[in-house]
Amino acid sequence: MRKKLVAGNWKMHGNLVENKQLLSAIVAGLDGLLNVQFVVCVPYPYFSSVQSVLQGTNIAWGAQNVSQYEKGAYTGEISVSMLNDFKCSYVIVGHSERRTLFFESSLIVAEKFAAAQRVGLTPILCVGETLEQRETGMTEQIIEEQLSAVVNLAGVESLNKAVIAYEPIWAIGTGKTASPQQAQDVHAFIRKGVAARNMSVAQDLTILYGGSVKANNASELFAMPDIDGGLIGGASLVSSDFIAICRALHN
Ligand code: PEP
Repeated sequence: MRKKLVAGNWKMHGNLVENKQLLSAIVAGLDGLLNVQFVVCVPYPYFSSVQSVLQGTNIAWGAQNVSQYEKGAYTGEISVSMLNDFKCSYVIVGHSERRTLFFESSLIVAEKFAAAQRVGLTPILCVGETLEQRETGMTEQIIEEQLSAVVNLAGVESLNKAVIAYEPIWAIGTGKTASPQQAQDVHAFIRKGVAARNMSVAQDLTILYGGSVKANNASELFAMPDIDGGLIGGASLVSSDFIAICRALHN
């Protein structure tokens, strides 16, 4: 049975006061919704305060990035066991902003994915193409390269305890959403690629769509057969929008 999930990616936004207001509104707005999972991926310094607000609720918390290394002289990095100390459940790996702005290769992303799983964290693996790649017909090749880096390193069964997020780079933070059919086509391609390796892993794999999901377009995206939820950036910072998106998946 595929789990349904909405994940918020706060990026480098928020502060102690705003976070508390946002979270208390979300907790109230999602109270009692049980057949969908919710997670907010927050900046590292706020884990402790986020944990104190969210523990005991139906909303999990996680990180937006993690080191591939276990520990050592890696100034400025955060390890998977540190995330565990704060009871994180999820970590985003391979977000396009990490791949592009911080030069993370697919191999590094795969190493982060494997490191997260070693301590029981669920990685949310982001894959997606640029506009130029889409326009030159390279979408499937790019997605396959990003996916196979993980499968080659961690094995296809590793996807049993992971989530994939298809995030076309041209749709992130731009207000341009992939049409439900465009998103569905890539989701189906991802599921087919996993099925070719292992059918039952593919059937149970949760694949999120991310890229300018808003309260007014979430329902039609979530209605597509291979879209199991969303990874939400900008709209996860506005409680009423995030709640509406989560409820669109729940219905
Ligand atoms: C994201 O950053 O993962 C994202 C999907 O952002 P937005 O929803 O703002 O496009």
